This record gives sequence, structure tokens and C-alpha cells, in this order.
Amino acid sequence: MIYDTIIVGAGPAGYSASIYASRYKLKNLIIGHELGGQITEAHLIENYPGYPSVSGQELMNHFKEHAEKLGAELVINEAKGIIQEKDKTFTVICENNEKYSAKSIILATGMKYRKLEIPGEAEFTGKGVSFCFVCDGMFFKDKTVGVIGGGNSATMAADYLSKVAKKVYLIYRRDVLTANPTWQEKISTNEKIIKVPNTNVIKILGENLLQKVELDNPYQGNKFLDLDGLFIEIGSVPSLTLAKSLKLETDEQGYIKVKPNQSTSLEGVFAAGDVTTESNKFRQVIAASAEGAIAAEGAYKYVHHR
Ligand SMILES: Cc1cc2nc3c(=O)[nH]c(=O)nc-3n(C[C@H](O)[C@H](O)[C@H](O)COP(=O)(O)OP(=O)(O)OC[C@H]3O[C@@H](n4cnc5c(N)ncnc54)[C@H](O)[C@@H]3O)c2cc1C
Repeated sequence: MIYDTIIVGAGPAGYSASIYASRYKLKNLIIGHELGGQITEAHLIENYPGYPSVSGQELMNHFKEHAEKLGAELVINEAKGIIQEKDKTFTVICENNEKYSAKSIILATGMKYRKLEIPGEAEFTGKGVSFCFVCDGMFFKDKTVGVIGGGNSATMAADYLSKVAKKVYLIYRRDVLTANPTWQEKISTNEKIIKVPNTNVIKILGENLLQKVELDNPYQGNKFLDLDGLFIEIGSVPSLTLAKSLKLETDEQGYIKVKPNQSTSLEGVFAAGDVTTESNKFRQVIAASAEGAIAAEGAYKYVHHR
């Protein structure tokens, strides 16, 4: 079976690409290994049109149902590489060497968590250190936790954790938060959230489980802060394995360069969502979804002009 298009990534961009591809009557397959993508970690979304207040998981369930209703096939697997064959078709190679072929590809692989790369981070991941407050927040009921970061994800994490934990230290390296004003306002009157500006965590310490972190700027005269949990929310980096396997052009940060129709430097390969340069400017569900739709249109024109 040769699909018209294979969409790699089952987040907002991937599902939207599939919805539009199906409407264009393109036989399409979605390959994704974490269904729903990053937004499934958001406990509350209030900026997606038509849904005044919805969890990321619920919103993505709707996207998935919609895509499947229109005929999308979905395979839960990780694409490990893509090769272009002599006849210009593409072969996607997945875990366990499963292979799928298509005339065109839409990469909607989003991003991965950025790490601090400090001593103790790897050792205590899963032992008090987490990158997913929605997944792990409940383990810290009535405990003291830290959140590292000053952007939207970090303030959202602090807000979420304050409903579970006893106390939340929000630790960020600048003197001001960079989160959007709505999230800043949301946490400003929350007495459980204690802001620790101008500070970096430089070491994570404990015995079997995280117990404390070392700060580069002492907080209330103490360079150690006792914590039961630490949530690292300092953004993400693009998922680029597949872009590399196809030798696609990327920008200096590693995001895939795309033209206005979401085509990449390799004919027949399109990219959409947080993995692209354009989306890097506004990483939101609505932008990723729009790019997915445009990429599907690009794939349609490409497949029909071949
Ligand atoms: C905590 C948090 C809160 C947020 N809140 C909001 C909000 O309120 N409103 C908003 O609009 N946006 C919000 N965002 C941003 C939003 O989640 C992203 O902009 C959006 O998810 C990007 O969609 P995407 O499809 O490009 O990528 P992603 O959501 O990252 O999805 C990519 C998908 O590709 C899969 N994938 C990657 N590589 C492979 C591979 N090799 N093989 C198979 N599958 C692969 C991943 O598993 C994932 O399923 C939030 C993000 C976070 C982290």
C-alpha cells in the first residue's frame, strides 16, 4: 500500500493535516507515538476558539475523533527514519522495523522538553524531578515543590501545582516573568506561589529521592532550598531526527525551514506546527493546526501534479 501522504506526529498539527488531507481525498496515515502531543499536558486551555475552557486531553480527543471520522488511519509507533526511494516515494521506518510508504510526507513532530543539564537532573528524574506537571503533580499533594522557568509553561505549572501542593516556589533566572499577562495575573494573587527571581538552580541533591536544590543566588540567605518535587518547565527543542534523515534545511535553532505552503527544502516533504521555523514565532494549538491544514493542501497539490 502506498499512501498519498504519511503524517508523522499526532498532535494538533498532525490531526489537522489529516482532517484536511481526508477532505482532499488523500489516502493518509498518521504515525504518532504520544497521542495528542504536548497540549495533553495542559490542564486548562482558554484560547482555542469554540472551547472557552477545556483540558488539552479533551481537545485532542475531539481532534482525533474528527480525523478518524473522516478516514484517517492511525498507527501508534515512533518513526525512526525516512528515506526517499528512486521513484521519489518515501519509506517511513518505524520502531520494530515496520515500514510504510507514501507519495508525500507531512512532518508534524513538534518539540521535546528542554533539559537544564545540571548535576542531579538525570539521577533524580522520576525521583522527584519531573517534566510533566499534569502527569506527576498529584504525587505532591500537600508537599513543597519548585517550578523552574518564567514562561507560560512554568506559570501554568505553578498555578496547577498550587491546587495540589502546600507551597510552590517559582524559580526563574530573570528579574521578571516572560509568561503572557493572563498567566502572570492568574498567579499574582496566589499566596501559595512564592516567586524566586534572578536565580538558577545549579544542582539537584538527595538520597534516593530529591531533597533539595542548590541555588546560584541565595534565597533568604540560604543557598539550598528544601523541596519534595521539582518541575522543569524551561521550554522545548524541536524533534529533528526525521528532518536530519531527509537532510532538510533548518534554521540556526534547528527548526525546519518552510515556505508559505509549508513545503520544505525537499520536494514532497511538508512540515507543520511547532517543529517549523514559522511556528516558532507563535507556538500555539491554533497556529499548529492552521499549518497542518496548509501542509495538507500543499501535499494535495504535490500528489496531483506528480
Ligand atoms: C504545558 C503546556 C501548555 C500549553 N498551553 C497552551 C494553550 O493554552 N494554548 C495553546 O494554544 N497552546 C498551548 N501550548 C502549546 C501547544 O501545546 C503547542 O503549540 C502545540 O501542541 C503544537 O502542536 P504540534 O502538533 O506542532 O506538536 P506537538 O503537540 O508537540 O505534537 C507532536 C507529536 O509528534 C509526535 N512525534 C514526534 N516525533 C515523532 C516520531 N519520530 N514518530 C512518531 N511521532 C512523533 C509526538 O509524540 C507528538 O504526539 C501549551 C504547551 C504546553 C507544553
